[in-house]
Amino acid sequence: MGKIVAKFGGSSLADAGQFQKVRDILLSDSRRAYVVPSAPGKRNGADEKVTDMLYALCRQHRAGGDWQSVFARIAERYRTIAAELALPGVLDAELALIKSDVETGAGEDYCASRGEYLNGLLLSAYIGYPFVDPKDYIFFTAEGAFDSERTNTALGAALADMDTAVIPGFYGANPDGSIRTFSRGGSDITGAIVARAASADLYENWTDVNGFLMADPRLVTGARPIRCITYRELRELSYMGATVLHEDSVFPVHRAGIPTNIRNTNEPDHVGTMIAHTADVSDNPCVITGIAGRVGFSVISVEKAMMNAEKGFGRRVLQAIEEAGLNFEHLPTGIDTLCVVLETCQLTPVREQVVSRIMALTQPDTLTIHDELGLIATVGRGMVHNPGTAARLFTALSRANVNVRMIDQGSSELSILVGVDCCDFERAIRAIYGEFVR
Ligand code: ASP
Repeated sequence: MGKIVAKFGGSSLADAGQFQKVRDILLSDSRRAYVVPSAPGKRNGADEKVTDMLYALCRQHRAGGDWQSVFARIAERYRTIAAELALPGVLDAELALIKSDVETGAGEDYCASRGEYLNGLLLSAYIGYPFVDPKDYIFFTAEGAFDSERTNTALGAALADMDTAVIPGFYGANPDGSIRTFSRGGSDITGAIVARAASADLYENWTDVNGFLMADPRLVTGARPIRCITYRELRELSYMGATVLHEDSVFPVHRAGIPTNIRNTNEPDHVGTMIAHTADVSDNPCVITGIAGRVGFSVISVEKAMMNAEKGFGRRVLQAIEEAGLNFEHLPTGIDTLCVVLETCQLTPVREQVVSRIMALTQPDTLTIHDELGLIATVGRGMVHNPGTAARLFTALSRANVNVRMIDQGSSELSILVGVDCCDFERAIRAIYGEFVR
């Protein structure tokens, strides 16, 4: 029987009621063998995430402030959940230990990691799966990079001997054994690491939404959920700002060929979004899979007659960009024009330097910079099989009176990227959505 790794986000474990839902989900499918919990999240809009409180605790201690009252609130949060789960006092010894560690100057990563650690202990006591401390199996190098192969070997060997386990998310250990956390939202990464090490059939990522939506619901009311998406499509959408999963959580499972299923703890019967290596084109009636976009870009357009015949022209433009320490996002070109799209916030401090360096290196006829650009990616594996997709997209934009400033169709034919003025950005997203999703 194949195994499933189930990661539960902070809102899925925010209180005792949520713990009960998690237990029901685990009991409803015996393949759900390995569980990766986050720290308790917000119970309502005005509430605090435990991880945020733990960072505050560390800051207060360092500043000589009233860290004890922050600690008391954190401890109270866990004690309440434990009591409501009929496990009173189960964390008392651990809480006392953590308090004394903070008192003697424990580091920030150690403090932050205790949210997942305590939640893991609590969940382990509640569902009866053994507790595995990631500090013994998830490793970072001396330079602070995640040590994927060492981790995979150690964790894989440990899990091979365990039918079930609770493995807290978000942290591992430095070579000296001290605790190190991933970046915020890093329990997603732990889940993917565990899925790879366990050679799981499926990585389930339980959260509080019914999966990815086809567009940002703040811009498109009632945006539909995506049932199935490939890892490559996901990469295109998350690069352009769509977020549900931590970016670094995709790589371990993608490489290991394990699909990821985003599910909703509060609506466990909903199928959620399945992220897989390949997906059928036919199960996507809309042709496109999703739309995502970001504002805050600038385009440097360099124009020179007969540019195409001038060897090294493109390299010299990019040399100026590199010398200024900039990343560029896109590079659309015409016969006599070359455009470099980059983030305005990166360009602003070195704008003069970049302009004069490109002028000196390439002697263009004109060099213009257009700011206030928004980029919109329309992504879909179905595009390549559907002639007329681009025509539909541009007709929709023109009907909505959107001025398209830039077009870049990725060589993969997986996405069409358009640049529009920031003032047209939201209208453009709604127009594209309206055209393809009816
Ligand atoms: N608790 C950590 C955070 O808030 C990690 C996670 O939830 O994934 O960032």
